[in-house]
Amino acid sequence: MDKIFNYINGELVEPLSNQWLDNYNPAIGEVYSLIPDSTKEDVENAQKAAKNAFPIWSNSTIKERATILQRIANLILERQDDLAFAESVDNGKPLALAKKVDIPRAATNMSFFASAILHENSESHQMSQVAINYTLRKPIGVVGCISPWNLPLYLFTWKIAPALATGNTVVAKPSEITPMTAFLFSKICIDAGLPKGVLNIVHGLGAKVGFEITKHPNIKAISFTGGTLTGQKIAEVAAPMFKKLSLELGGKNPNIIFADCDLEKAVSSSVLSSFSNQGQICLCGSRIFVERKIYKVFKEKFLKKVKSLTIGDPLEKSSKIGSLVSQQHLEKVLTHIEVAKKDGGILLAGGNKFIPKGKCSNGYFLEPTVFEGLSYDCSTNQEEIFGPVVTLMPFDSEEEVLNFANSTKYGLCSMVWTSDLKRANRMSLKLDSGIVWINCWLVRDLRTPFGGMKESGVGREGGSYALNFFTETTNVCISYD
Ligand code: NDP
Repeated sequence: MDKIFNYINGELVEPLSNQWLDNYNPAIGEVYSLIPDSTKEDVENAQKAAKNAFPIWSNSTIKERATILQRIANLILERQDDLAFAESVDNGKPLALAKKVDIPRAATNMSFFASAILHENSESHQMSQVAINYTLRKPIGVVGCISPWNLPLYLFTWKIAPALATGNTVVAKPSEITPMTAFLFSKICIDAGLPKGVLNIVHGLGAKVGFEITKHPNIKAISFTGGTLTGQKIAEVAAPMFKKLSLELGGKNPNIIFADCDLEKAVSSSVLSSFSNQGQICLCGSRIFVERKIYKVFKEKFLKKVKSLTIGDPLEKSSKIGSLVSQQHLEKVLTHIEVAKKDGGILLAGGNKFIPKGKCSNGYFLEPTVFEGLSYDCSTNQEEIFGPVVTLMPFDSEEEVLNFANSTKYGLCSMVWTSDLKRANRMSLKLDSGIVWINCWLVRDLRTPFGGMKESGVGREGGSYALNFFTETTNVCISYD
């Protein structure tokens, strides 16, 4: 059986305990590789390596750091077919999606922050006749990056790139459920000549490896993406230690369709924002509010497209819907579907496991599922399901839909479909969301602030927000006297 290794101090190493965890191919339902079940001792070694590497890496020039990060980006692109294949097998997502989105974006994350540091400005504040202040930004030291399973390499590199670019050294943990591309990435870092110890990747369970990273006194900042409950656990450990914390957490995003929208575009985009990556994207719009005047026609068009989505082997070109990431997650989503039915939800599409013919017949597939007839405040419309399950709800006025949209504990993103610019601006101001997409979805400029409010997170990633997070700020005040 193939083994995945930790990447510590520039080398690929076995876990000290020699204990291993099973890694599943979710589309087949079988174990296909083993991953380290790492412990405190592995995290300690990773931390030591990162600490030793810090003086050299933090004192390297921005040009040297940018060159290595760009080399990593180039190698990701050179190996994109292998990486996309590995991501699809490990996660269950359609290969076409991994090729189009996950892997190119991982390369862009590296090259974006490689060039961002070359173009960064620092601030100065003049006090006429008195003094001049300038702002120094210094790397923090050893930082921890912990990422989830839904967009494995994409979100892993989204954290690592700014952390390394700003001169920090890193101890990182990918999700134990999807570790393969992080392992391939460690080989890329070796081939790109990243100095030893600058990046260390420790595989294993969140409750062991993630916890040890979070509580290690020498790891000064934690950048975490994952569920809200895990974020809470991390904050409980890290906040009393005064660590810098960036938390990108769950969402229950509203997708709001006004009658004056471009209906065809709204329908097509809503299918994508509902079911891309089997609904396992934190930015998916799982609550679809449709103005009553067009509710019926939207519903008909939406359901027609949903029912035509091909479910099946993620490696097949025709598959638009792959498998869910694990059996455990499939069962969790099925439980949510049962709750929705008990709460009076009317099933318009899906609702069942899907069994493809052939080699994927034991995989964790679920039909794209659409409900109507549920109230905006029932648990289906309040709890994050993180699977291919959406609800349709009619509304009559802007005030009413704002109340519905803002009713959850989350505040990650919102989509608004309208041709009325004034309304779009009014809605953007009043929606409790870190991101509002007007007449589009998932259009990303990496310079923009990315993150959520309420229980969707603390802080923002992207562009200068990430560069600021991964640096300590010193104001230097020089007297003119
Ligand atoms: P989890 O919170 O379960 O896990 C995220 C990461 O944290 C994993 O690497 C996990 O390891 C690790 N972890 C688990 N427990 C601890 C702990 N006690 N201390 C430190 N680390 C720990 O999230 P999922 O992987 O299930 O991802 C899905 C969630 O991520 C959804 O809620 C989704 O909304 C959210 N998400 C948010 C995004 C955003 O930008 N706001 C983007 C993408 C996803 P292990 O896998 O071994 O448990």
